[in-house]
Amino acid sequence: MEAENDLDIVDARIDELLARFADPRLADVTEFRRAQFDLGLAWVHFRVGDGGLGVSASHQGSIEARLRAAGAPPRNGAYVAMHQGAASIHAVGTPEQRARFLRPMFTGEDAWCQLFSEPGAGSDLAGLATMAVRDGDEWVVNGQKVWTSGAMDADWAILVARTDPDQPKHRGLTFFICDMSVPGIDIRPLRHADGAAHFAEVFLSDVRLPDELRLGDVGYGWGVSVAGLHSERAGVGDAFHVPIERLLELWRARPEHESGAALALRDEVTRAWIGDQVLRLNQERLRAASGETPLGSTVKVAAAEFNQRLSSLMTTLLGPAGLVGLDYEAQLREDPDRLDWHEAPQQFVLRSIAMSIEGGTSEINRNIIGERVLGLPGDIRVDKDRPWREVPRS
Ligand SMILES: Cc1cc2nc3c(=O)[nH]c(=O)nc-3n(C[C@H](O)[C@H](O)[C@H](O)COP(=O)(O)OP(=O)(O)OC[C@H]3O[C@@H](n4cnc5c(N)ncnc54)[C@H](O)[C@@H]3O)c2cc1C
Repeated sequence: MEAENDLDIVDARIDELLARFADPRLADVTEFRRAQFDLGLAWVHFRVGDGGLGVSASHQGSIEARLRAAGAPPRNGAYVAMHQGAASIHAVGTPEQRARFLRPMFTGEDAWCQLFSEPGAGSDLAGLATMAVRDGDEWVVNGQKVWTSGAMDADWAILVARTDPDQPKHRGLTFFICDMSVPGIDIRPLRHADGAAHFAEVFLSDVRLPDELRLGDVGYGWGVSVAGLHSERAGVGDAFHVPIERLLELWRARPEHESGAALALRDEVTRAWIGDQVLRLNQERLRAASGETPLGSTVKVAAAEFNQRLSSLMTTLLGPAGLVGLDYEAQLREDPDRLDWHEAPQQFVLRSIAMSIEGGTSEINRNIIGERVLGLPGDIRVDKDRPWREVPRS
């Protein structure tokens, strides 16, 4: 009964949103997203006033489907902002932080990046060495981050730093929001295998952050990070989705696709189509579970492996053309007209390799599934209870 009421409320809000725009296809993207946020249809499970209606996240899929069918602008695809950043701020942000940051995160007016990984702390994120030392109403941050996607264009970052090196590694961390325009931040782009440079090394030297940008309590940064990481994994699994129709188009375009020699490939295409359906259903199940659970790891691992198989199959279907056609020079120039990997399977092959690394490697996500979903014995952790300062580091 309650769920039915929720559905009515959500439907009425969608009607109201669409009624505000004579033709959603012509709507200004920012204006449309602002209205979507204000009506509680941004993250529908968030609180009223924070872009939500406090109802099950399972409604989000049908909201997006109805909006897209009406020709509304696409949802912001920036997954640090839309998933991890938003989930963290919604979970522990003060009313002021939520009012300041959530709306422009959703509309895309503010760009965000994630300052987590370090040269010595990727899978072992809790071992990170960037320090934040309190100085009155401010924190002074020093350290080095790496693989920071979108750092070059970001207005804001979510940042985890060590505030108490005498505590064991998980307990001495604090979570901050970092203004990327303040002095002391040096961003050096890193180029990846496909020629593009979407991530960077970020050096923080005496960066001063006001205490009002601390997110959550001092020493509780790990808990905030983990809640956000579950959401990020769900987001990564969701974000990199190439429509299966693209594979079928390539299959149909093959001149000999009816020949006996192509039978093996036909099996592969069928298997990929089934894999796509299974993934889509798991994504639906995850959305219904609110997206902030360790279940995000299952979709993340499955999506990474599926995309690697799919991209490889797409290039096989292209035949000899699958070996060429990648405009590396356009990538180097950051040419806006360069082929997107949705269009260019050659590009997709290279990009898909990163999918089982970013957002936590598949091995780490399997550990999480084993421990937190299946209840299997945990990984061996010899440094868990030792003060971080005493743990040997390379
Ligand atoms: C495209 C891309 C974008 C990224 N964007 C960001 C970003 O925006 N912000 C950010 O902070 N980071 C980002 N990262 C970094 C990413 O989170 C790390 O690369 C990842 O967590 C792995 O860390 P690492 O590279 O240090 O590898 P390591 O931790 O050194 O791991 C090396 C290998 O050892 C395995 N391994 C390690 N520990 C275990 C264990 N306990 N059990 C089993 N196997 C283990 C790993 O699975 C891996 O195969 C990005 C990475 C990529 C590829």
